[in-house]
Amino acid sequence: MTAGRAYLDYNATAPLRAEARAAVLGCLSDVGNPSSVHGEGRAARGRIEEARLKVAALAGARPAEVVFTSGATEAAAMVLQQSWQSILFSRVEHPCVVAPVLAADARVAEMPVGRDGMLDLRAVEVLAAAHAGRDGGRPGRSLLVVQAANNETGVLQPVAELAAMARAHGMSVLVDAVQAAGRMAIDMGALGADFLMLSSHKLGGPKGVGALVIREGADVAPLLTGGGQERRRRAGTENVEGIVGFGAAAEAASRGLAAEAGRLAEMRDALERDAVAAAPGTIVVGGTSPRLPNTSCLAMPGAKSETVVIKMDLAGVAVSAGAACSSGRVGQSPVLAAMGLDPAVARAAIRVSLGHATTARDIASFLAAWRAAAGARTGNCGGRRTSAGASPVESSIR
Ligand code: PLP
Repeated sequence: MTAGRAYLDYNATAPLRAEARAAVLGCLSDVGNPSSVHGEGRAARGRIEEARLKVAALAGARPAEVVFTSGATEAAAMVLQQSWQSILFSRVEHPCVVAPVLAADARVAEMPVGRDGMLDLRAVEVLAAAHAGRDGGRPGRSLLVVQAANNETGVLQPVAELAAMARAHGMSVLVDAVQAAGRMAIDMGALGADFLMLSSHKLGGPKGVGALVIREGADVAPLLTGGGQERRRRAGTENVEGIVGFGAAAEAASRGLAAEAGRLAEMRDALERDAVAAAPGTIVVGGTSPRLPNTSCLAMPGAKSETVVIKMDLAGVAVSAGAACSSGRVGQSPVLAAMGLDPAVARAAIRVSLGHATTARDIASFLAAWRAAAGARTGNCGGRRTSAGASPVESSIR
């Protein structure tokens, strides 16, 4: 991280943990291909298997259930490219889920999302009954996809309840645990997941590596074919350094998880209190729902998210916008739209996400920049002036 800056964008990617850095550096000069039978090859294989144990422990899974991939996007693709008869999903899912679901040759149904960002269990029950795996198809040919925690708001879904419902109707369950893993306890069995997606870089490991955890007995035809790596479930020479770094990050994130979650929640709650006091009418999106301890989605009345993000960046604070800003056009976040948020509120939303290296000083830097942004509210995206729009306070989701 750059000295003097406050990095508060952990949900985009977390800084590399010291443990992961040391682990990666420790094997960069190793030569062995993990598939080779000689000593060098066996050493590389050993490093991968050690990492597999750590990643399995993070997910409450068995090591043999972990398949290393290039990230969660590939893990999602592995499951979603299977020939499903029907798929249930929602619009708060990450684009790496939404895009392949919409492209799938399957009956696709959207699970409704409440204004609190949570799925409506009763509506899902009706949909699951209508799309049951037993209904006209072989058992297990229907899939329910759900995220454990949302990347923009941190809102948690009742995954265990949803999975139990889906399984009662013969459906398989894919859980996107990318934002939850390493921030709250995850247990594949307790969640009732058949498939679970993980990503290394969200928890302080290297980028470009992740995993699909496949419950023993669940079946997935490989996306990449060729060699017999990963028990014939993912061909290609393994990214040994990345996998080793992922394992080290998973182990470090699992250590003292509850205490770290408490520390982050305390800082996040103080940040929200002070942000609302500095700009009265500020909305904490998803603030009434169970949330990750590290995430805050804040909408300042009369502000434009992209303007706030740029001002913050200039002040040395890295946060994200809830709405996309490209070529002078402001696009609304599909997640916030799915929650039924007033477009004016959604256009003001920024995401602040904390993590393992966040300090009280970072929070103070954010609040100073937030106060400055609150003092000068005019919209500007891509150099083009935009109007401030209606007051978000009037259409608050609270
Ligand atoms: N799912 C969620 C909730 C995410 O936030 C992300 C990354 O932003 C992904 C999936 C994709 O992960 P990866 O970067 O490993 O492909």
